Amino acid sequence: MDFFQKDLETMSADQKFVLQSEKLVKTVKYVYENQKPYRDKMDAIKLKPSDIKSLNDLPKLPFVTKQDLRDSYPFGMMAAPRRDLVRLHASSATTGKLTVSGHTMKDIDVWAECAARSLVMAGADEESIVHVSYGYGLFTGGLGMHYAGEKLGAVVVPASAGNTQKQIQLLTDFGADIICCTPSYIIYLAEEIERLGLKPGVDLKLKGGLFGAETWTEEMRADIEKRLGLLACDIYGLSEICGPGVATDCKYKTGMHFQEDHYFPEIVDVDTLEPVGYKQSGELVITTLDREGMPLLRYRTRDIASLNNDPCPCGRTTVKLNKITGRSDDMLIIRGVNVFPSQIESVLLQNPNIEPHYHITVDRVNNLDTMEIAVELSPNIEIENIDKIEAVRQKLTADMASALSVGAKIKLVSPGTITRSEGKAKRLTDKRKI
Ligand SMILES: [Zn+2]
Repeated sequence: MDFFQKDLETMSADQKFVLQSEKLVKTVKYVYENQKPYRDKMDAIKLKPSDIKSLNDLPKLPFVTKQDLRDSYPFGMMAAPRRDLVRLHASSATTGKLTVSGHTMKDIDVWAECAARSLVMAGADEESIVHVSYGYGLFTGGLGMHYAGEKLGAVVVPASAGNTQKQIQLLTDFGADIICCTPSYIIYLAEEIERLGLKPGVDLKLKGGLFGAETWTEEMRADIEKRLGLLACDIYGLSEICGPGVATDCKYKTGMHFQEDHYFPEIVDVDTLEPVGYKQSGELVITTLDREGMPLLRYRTRDIASLNNDPCPCGRTTVKLNKITGRSDDMLIIRGVNVFPSQIESVLLQNPNIEPHYHITVDRVNNLDTMEIAVELSPNIEIENIDKIEAVRQKLTADMASALSVGAKIKLVSPGTITRSEGKAKRLTDKRKI
C-alpha cells in the first residue's frame, strides 16, 4: 500500500492552490461568523472575509497565539455549536489553565485520515496490527493513532503508556508490525527487549514505527532503526490543531509530508513575523483549512522549523516540514508532556516551607527523560528535623506530579545554597543532547 489517499497526497501545485484557496475563503467566512475572538481581531484591522480571495491573501490575516486560547478558556474559540462537538482534548499551559481543543465528528474524521496517511507512510496497511503505546486521554497521542488505525482498517492494540513488560508480551504474542509511541519510549522498549534476549524480526514482527510528541535527532533515529530493525518515522502534531498526523516522514525521510489539504503551514521570521522562503528557519504557523470545532487561522505554534518543497521519490507532492529544532519559548518536553518552568514555580510558590529559589535539571537516563528540582528549605525549618523535611519533600513531590502530569524528583537543599543571579535567573539545566 503506497498511499492512503493518493489523489489528495499527489496533487499538482495548481490543484493544491485551488483547493486550499477554496477552503481558506470558506473557513475565513465561517470563522468571522462563528468565532468572536477572531472576528474582533479582523474588525480591529478592518479586514473583511471578502478581502480574502485566495491563498495569496493569507498573510493579511492576523495571527492566533496560545495566549488567545488561554484568554478564551475554555470554550471561547469553539466555532461549532455545542451539539455538534463530540470530543475535547487539552494540553498543559503556563498558567495552569489547559489549552482546550474541541472537535466535531468531521474534525475527528479528517484527523484520522491524516494520521492514517501517516501509518501508511510507516509501512502499515489493512493487514497491519498497530500497537499504540501513546497515553490515552486528554493527550492526543493515544486516541489520535487509535482512530487512524481503525480508519485504515488495521487492527489496533490500545496498549496505552506504561507497564513495559506487558507491552513486550503484547508485542510478541500479537505480532504487531507497526508501533506508535514517543522516541524515548521506543529506545527504552528496545533496551528491555535486548535485556530479555528477544530478537527483532524473530520474536517481534515490528517493521515500522511513528515516533512523536518529543523532538529527536537523526542519531536517535539511526539507533532505533538499528536496534529494532524497523523504519523509524517522525510524526508531528499538536493538540491545538488536531494531534499526531499533521506531518509525517515517509520512508525516504526527505522531511515530514505536511497534510496541507487540511492544515496549511507557513514559516515566519521570529522577530518580524513576515513569511520566509523554503529552507529558511522560523516559527511554524498553521491554518486549519476545514476544521469546524475550533478552526484556527494562522496559529503560531512556537515550534521552530523550516519547510522544503524538494521532490520526494515517494511521489507525494506535499510540502515537507524539516525536523523541529526548538521552541520559541521556554517550554520543556518531558517524556512527551509539555512542562513550563512557570508551572513548577507556581507549585513551589504555594508551599510555605520552602523559599522561591530553585533549579531544574533535566537529563536523559536510560533513554527516559528525568527531571530533578532542587529547592531551598525555609530557614524556619530546623535542618535536624528529618521527619518534617521528609514530609515537605513528599508533599512537593505529590503536588508537582499532579500539576505537571509527569514525575519530578524533589531535592531539598539548605537555605542560601542555590546560586543567585543578578540578571535573569538561570533556573534550568537541560543535559539532554537534543
Ligand atoms: Zn516522501
